[in-house]
Amino acid sequence: MQFQSTRDSALRVSSSEAIVRGLAPKSGLFVPESFPKADLENWKSLPYPALAEQVLKGFLTDYSADFLHSATAAIYGEAFGGKAGETVKVSDGVYALELWHGPTCAFKDYALQLMPKLLVEAKKNLGRTETTRILVATSGDTGKAALAGYADLDGIEIEVFYPNAGTSEIQHLQMATQKGDNVQVYAVEGNFDDAQTGVKRVFADESVAAELEARHIRLSSANSINWGRLVPQIVYYFYAYFRLAEQGAVAWGKPVDFCVPTGNFGDILAGYYAKQMGLPVGKLICASNKNNVLTDFIKTGTYDARRTFYKTTSPSMDILISSNLERLLLHTSGSAEKVEGWMQELAATGKYTVDAETLAKIQASFAAGYADDAAGAAEIRARFERNGYLCDTHTAVAFHVAEANRSDAPMVVLSTASPFKFPRDVLAALGETAPESDFAAMAVLTAKTGAAAPASLRELDKLPVRFNTVIEPAEIRAAALR
Ligand SMILES: *Cc1c(COP(=O)(O)O)cnc(C)c1O
Repeated sequence: MQFQSTRDSALRVSSSEAIVRGLAPKSGLFVPESFPKADLENWKSLPYPALAEQVLKGFLTDYSADFLHSATAAIYGEAFGGKAGETVKVSDGVYALELWHGPTCAFKDYALQLMPKLLVEAKKNLGRTETTRILVATSGDTGKAALAGYADLDGIEIEVFYPNAGTSEIQHLQMATQKGDNVQVYAVEGNFDDAQTGVKRVFADESVAAELEARHIRLSSANSINWGRLVPQIVYYFYAYFRLAEQGAVAWGKPVDFCVPTGNFGDILAGYYAKQMGLPVGKLICASNKNNVLTDFIKTGTYDARRTFYKTTSPSMDILISSNLERLLLHTSGSAEKVEGWMQELAATGKYTVDAETLAKIQASFAAGYADDAAGAAEIRARFERNGYLCDTHTAVAFHVAEANRSDAPMVVLSTASPFKFPRDVLAALGETAPESDFAAMAVLTAKTGAAAPASLRELDKLPVRFNTVIEPAEIRAAALR
């Protein structure tokens, strides 16, 4: 299997190369040139780790079978407490695919537990010996999931930069208490944009690259534009479908709809890939919060990022430029030239409009809707009071949008974070006065709902804080060169 760039149809690289490089030249993204066919009959009864091995094998054709077997077995068994791909019934015809049973309690663990191993192995496959230094700017979930995935791996160092005043108490402690000899965590004075701009500047600074090169170090990024982060997310769409079929909730071969709380368009794109491989997927429903640029795009074909940016109670979806959409544009338009044109227009003017044929192809697989904070909060309360199901603020957006987009097919809502990661907002949605501290709020939430907080969150305030350095954005360069 070869990978091509969304902006250059002539370029072809191996999967190892795509994962080590992250970005293609001219800011293109790597995509598979075709889709391996799923073997639904033989996959349907596989345990999660074995299913993951089969899915990965079709795309990562230059990785050894031994490696794929041991990596998937090691990650998707123990680390997810035996609950990888956990699918539970919420109400008639509606299911939650709970993706937060991993070490950091958000769905990003599926990708960020595996991706570091893929990177180390890709370097081996390509005979590369340099140290890889990963820089991550994060508003919360990605930082911790990346730290947990890359800690103590050979040949890798990771530095995380988060806004001093931009994360929750839990998110801050998750990062500040991270173990590992190869990790470094900095709070940056300012907001997420200050941290992100500072890190982007370092990536673009050729003098930084040259100085590190002399020390046999190369910079890399852990964000979701890397193909290695997308491929692990395809697996759980298959797994959820097989569980519904097993329970008789869907007749074998008939479609299931999936509703996905969306930010950077990575998670939902993995569902599209599952469909291309032959999974009977009806509609993929893209759920946004008040930052609803994707809702408008999927409904009209015009992507217009020139709008107010809102901070919401579902912060991991507060995004105006959804990077992975570019991949869908290539698959549906079939033209790297068109994609490059639209992306240039977006950069220059803040908007672009796709042609009618491309829009029709997108609408054949996708529907969209959004929920503001009030609608999300009402959803948390309704799901709890009517169905006894407790969900977080991101998942609530998807439940709301799913309701408006029901077809005859069963609906699977992707549940992307534990409600205990956002205990104050969840409590407030349930009509309780939330205590100031996240930890007090977790205890009240357990008392009110009977649900137990994940141990990894509950015990956070008892772990030693290892990192408390606050730096100015201008100091990110020096930190990266340390
Ligand atoms: C990252 C994240 C999302 C959005 O996923 P994308 O792949 O960026 O679309 C949704 N919910 C939670 C909890 C997240 O952390």
